[in-house]
Amino acid sequence: MIILKSRPEIALMREAGRIVARVHEAMREMVRPGVTTAALDKRAEEIIRQHGAVPTFLGYPHTGRNDFPASICASINEELVHGIPSVKRWLEPGDIISVDVGATYKGWVGDSAWTYPVGEVDAESKALMEATEGSLWAGIGQARAGNFLADISKAVETHVTQRGFHVVREYTGHGVGQRMHEEPNVLNYVPAGVGKGPKLKAGMTFALEPMVGAGTWRTKVMSDGWLVVMADGKRAAHFEHTIAITDGEPELLTVL
Ligand code: MG
Ligand code: MG
Repeated sequence: MIILKSRPEIALMREAGRIVARVHEAMREMVRPGVTTAALDKRAEEIIRQHGAVPTFLGYPHTGRNDFPASICASINEELVHGIPSVKRWLEPGDIISVDVGATYKGWVGDSAWTYPVGEVDAESKALMEATEGSLWAGIGQARAGNFLADISKAVETHVTQRGFHVVREYTGHGVGQRMHEEPNVLNYVPAGVGKGPKLKAGMTFALEPMVGAGTWRTKVMSDGWLVVMADGKRAAHFEHTIAITDGEPELLTVL
């Protein structure tokens, strides 16, 4: 079931989203050669708590068994998602780093990811980041009442494949609200032979998050049970915003 949110509920998600956007603002400034992913994580947690929120990812999924130990996911180069921050992992010139962060404010979640260049990066990395961010905006452009969920997926997929890159299939966007992962899954591609999915309605809130590989869409999970890397060792990018469907333009929730 897709949970519709009221305007006051969306206003709370907007507050959660603003805190997430503040974290990204800080990350953008901190990302440079020599910084450790643990330092990024520490700063992110400080900002989230200073604003009266809690880090959504910390301790997720709260099973008591290999729960996520940090406030951000920090995934470098061929790492796609779910990288655990570490004092032993520092950024080097030419790297790209995807930072994913969630904040829960008064029980409501904001979720956003961004891939940042570390200094000057090669042309393929630049093109990969541009294609992935562009596909997020293409998807957001279709997030309108009356459209279907698959219109978002199709827009993302088309944008990426036209630029010669590959949409990851094993991880998807999602509904978001009082829980980080609600129905529906928001695919970044349209599988053959499925319908158009649910019709979009005002009050639906989604985390749209294209994940894109430079060489393949296939991924594998590493031995820590979290880190996901591209199977071919080529680079990946990840851009995500939490948005609300309205009767007009889609509303971005994870912005300042
Ligand atoms: Mg996220
Ligand atoms: Mg997400």
